Amino acid sequence: MESQNFKGNNWSARKVDPIYIVSVKDGSSIVDALTDFIKSQNIQAGEVTGIGAVDEATLRFFKPSDKKYVDKTFKEQMEVTQISGNISEIEGKPTLHLHITLGREDYTALAGHLLDAKIRGAGEFIFYPLNTRVVKVKNEEVGINFYDFEK
Ligand code: FE
Repeated sequence: MESQNFKGNNWSARKVDPIYIVSVKDGSSIVDALTDFIKSQNIQAGEVTGIGAVDEATLRFFKPSDKKYVDKTFKEQMEVTQISGNISEIEGKPTLHLHITLGREDYTALAGHLLDAKIRGAGEFIFYPLNTRVVKVKNEEVGINFYDFEK
């Protein structure tokens, strides 16, 4: 099996064709590191999963009634029990759409759309690239980016 190692400022990765194992550096923003990673490897579509630990996370809740986003930051040590997400192109840029489930010290969970989080401990991800380009376009009526397979 072919494998190859790569390195960025705040991530390192091993490619085992066509999948990548990615480690995000302690203290780094998950979204910054993984966006840099997908750009560096020219990943335009696919799936990502991850686990690890963070000491700060900002979640976003979308309210369809008024098309508003409500953001909330949690500053505490939390276990990342699951990150799931996908990669697509929005306004010409490779973009991650990530959701997260976080375990608190009292063993309860927080969950939602992930705006960003800071790794404190490990950040372990697996990327499953798809050999295509998918575009999302903002639907002004709903207030959300939707896939447009005609683009
Ligand atoms: Fe979302």
